[in-house]
Amino acid sequence: MKHYSAFAVAREALRYHTGWERAWRSPEPKKKYDVIIVGAGGHGLATAYYLGKNYGIQNVAIIEKGWLGGGNTGRNTTIIRSNYLQDPSAALYEKARGLYEDLSQDLNYNIMFSPRGVIMLAQTQHEIRGYQRTAHANALQGVKTEWITPERVKELVPIINLDGPRYPVLGGLWQERGGTARHDAVAWGYARACSAMGMDIIQKCEVTGVRSDNGRVVGVDTTKGAIDCDKLGIVVAGHSGQLAEMAGFRLPLEAVALQALVSEPIKPCMDVVVMANTVHGYMSQSDKGEMVIGGGTDGFNNFTQRGSFHHIEETVRALVETFPMISRLKMLRQWGGIVDMTGDRSPILSKTPLQGCFINAGWGTGGFKAIPGSGWGMAQLMATGHSPLTEAFTMDRFKEGRFIDESVAAGVAH
Ligand SMILES: Cc1cc2nc3c(=O)[nH]c(=O)nc-3n(C[C@H](O)[C@H](O)[C@H](O)COP(=O)(O)OP(=O)(O)OC[C@H]3O[C@@H](n4cnc5c(N)ncnc54)[C@H](O)[C@@H]3O)c2cc1C
Repeated sequence: MKHYSAFAVAREALRYHTGWERAWRSPEPKKKYDVIIVGAGGHGLATAYYLGKNYGIQNVAIIEKGWLGGGNTGRNTTIIRSNYLQDPSAALYEKARGLYEDLSQDLNYNIMFSPRGVIMLAQTQHEIRGYQRTAHANALQGVKTEWITPERVKELVPIINLDGPRYPVLGGLWQERGGTARHDAVAWGYARACSAMGMDIIQKCEVTGVRSDNGRVVGVDTTKGAIDCDKLGIVVAGHSGQLAEMAGFRLPLEAVALQALVSEPIKPCMDVVVMANTVHGYMSQSDKGEMVIGGGTDGFNNFTQRGSFHHIEETVRALVETFPMISRLKMLRQWGGIVDMTGDRSPILSKTPLQGCFINAGWGTGGFKAIPGSGWGMAQLMATGHSPLTEAFTMDRFKEGRFIDESVAAGVAH
C-alpha cells in the first residue's frame, strides 16, 4: 500500500494523478479463512483491522451484501462523544473517542476528526438532574465533561434561542473533545488498512446461512458459495436478528428506521454539535455548510432505508423553537438507516451459544462514535476469548437482569 502524504499529493499532481492505486482490492473469496466477519460497516471493518494489527490474525474475510460502509456507517450524523452514565459504557465509548483522536495517523487516511465539542441541552428539571448526575459520574470515570449554564450555552451557540415558550434552555452537558468525523472516511480508512494487511473484503456477497458441526461454527453459505472459517463475527446492525436466526439463537433486539436530513449549505453559523433530547432533535454544521439534522426513530419496526415526509416535519418542528433560523432553510435531502435497538440501549458484544461465533450488535442510534473502541474490544474477545472492554455487554445480561441502562445517554441522543 502506498503511503498517503503531502509529498504523494504533490507528486501525483505533477503526473496528472495517474499513479494512485485502488484503496482496496476486490478479490474472489477463498475456500477458507481463520476468521470471517459478516458486515463491512465500521464495526465489522474495525474488528478485522484490530484482529490483524493487535493479534496478527490476517487470514480474514469481511463479507458484505452491499457495498462497504453503505449501511448505517455511511448514513449517520457522525456525532462522537463518550458522556455515558454507566462505568462499562464510559470505558468503551471513551476508549473509542481516544482512538478517534489519532485514527487518521494510525490508518494513514484522513477521517476528518473534528473535536468541536458536543452540548446536550437540558430543557426540563428532569434533564438537569440527569445530566448533572452524568457529569458527576464522568468525573469519577475520568471522562472530561462538565455541566454548563444557559449563559455559557449561548456563548458557545450564538444562534440558539434560550427562552423557548415550551422548553427553555436550562443548561447543558458539555463535552469539549466530543465532535464529528467523516463517516465514509472511517469505513474507507479501515477498509484500506485491512486490505493492505492481506484481508479480503468481499462486497456484493450476501451471507444466507451459517454452517455448524457439533455446536461449533464451521463456515457460512453465501451468494458466492460456501466459505469455511474457524471463527465467525456477526456485525450486521439492523439485520442481526436474521443472522442470529441462521446461527440458531435469538437476540433481544428490534429493528427500526432512523432518519436524518440536511439543509442547503449556508455560511458557518454553528461550530459545535447541539443535541436537544427532550424535543427529539439535534444539529451540527457540516464542512460543506449544510445543517445536519437528526431526530428520533420511527415509532414502528421496519426495514426501510429511506426518509419519510412526516419525519421532516416532526424533526424541524422539534428544533425550530430552539433554533428559529432553521425555519428559513430549504431542506436538501433526507435518508434512513436500519438500527438495532436493545431494551437497555446498550450494545451486545458477546460470545454466542454457537461456539466460535461472536456477535457485535445493538448499537441502536449511537454506534458510530464507538467504532474504534468496539473493534478493539471485539478483536480482543475473538482472539483471546476475553476482553475487559466487552465483558459487561454479553447477551446473557438480559436473562440475568444485569442491564446497562443508558436511556438518558442513548435513548434519543445519537
Ligand atoms: C440516520 C442515522 C443517524 C445516526 N447518527 C449517529 C450519530 O450521530 N452518532 C453515532 O454514534 N451513531 C449514529 N448512528 C448509528 C450508527 O450509524 C450505527 O450504530 C453504526 O453505524 C453501526 O455500524 P455497524 O458497522 O454495526 O453497521 P452498518 O454500518 O449498518 O454495517 C452492517 C453491514 O452489514 C451488512 N449486512 C447485513 N446483512 C448482511 C448479510 N446477510 N450478509 C452480508 N452483509 C450483511 C449491511 O449491508 C451493512 O453494510 C446513526 C444511524 C442512523 C441511521
